[in-house]
Amino acid sequence: MTSERRLNRGERIVLASHNKGKLVEFRALLAESGIEIVSAAELGLPEPEETAETFEGNAAIKALAAAKATGLPALSDDSGFCVAALDGRPGIYSARWAGPGGDMSIAMQRVHDEMGASPDRHAAFVAVLCLAWPDGTTRYAEGRCEGEVCWPPKGDQGHGYDPIFIPQGDRRSFAELSADEKNAISHRGRALERFLATCVSTDPA
Ligand code: IMP
Repeated sequence: MTSERRLNRGERIVLASHNKGKLVEFRALLAESGIEIVSAAELGLPEPEETAETFEGNAAIKALAAAKATGLPALSDDSGFCVAALDGRPGIYSARWAGPGGDMSIAMQRVHDEMGASPDRHAAFVAVLCLAWPDGTTRYAEGRCEGEVCWPPKGDQGHGYDPIFIPQGDRRSFAELSADEKNAISHRGRALERFLATCVSTDPA
């Protein structure tokens, strides 16, 4: 039994993200635990600048800003693609490698070019969720999905770096999996599973 703070069933929280896809995904996944989610966009909250150098740090900036502005517990996530041969880059810079236009073909080409002929093809997607309370208390849940970089890109499902990532134990890229198949093994799916197990109370509302 842990003494660490948890969310209670039936509690209302704010999702510190302006991404509609994430709102739908988190609402569906937390519905069972009776947690009601309102989004930062619905409340007209500004998006803070992500100035930290770790996933935890950036997730905390987003969650703490939303918790302090609303007086509600806030949940955020920060994620990225970490390539072993590039010392973990692009990592927290994953979105930024796509340039101001968000062109993922530029970001994937850069991964390929910087890896060159390196024999180490290992990579992982990482997601960190942060739950913050208005008094500054924070809890974290991390999820990882290990695999390898492939080239050329393949598949047309998913988003981001999905076409150049083959999860361990498969021959297909993330972009060749259905959404359900990906969610079952993805970094975000695993982080959410861990979050539900460690940060949400199992007591009835
Ligand atoms: P964020 O979680 O919105 O901060 O995402 C950071 C960046 O990491 C995204 O813009 C993508 O480039 C990359 N990324 C995160 N999760 C995934 C994924 O599931 N597939 C592909 N790329 C991802």
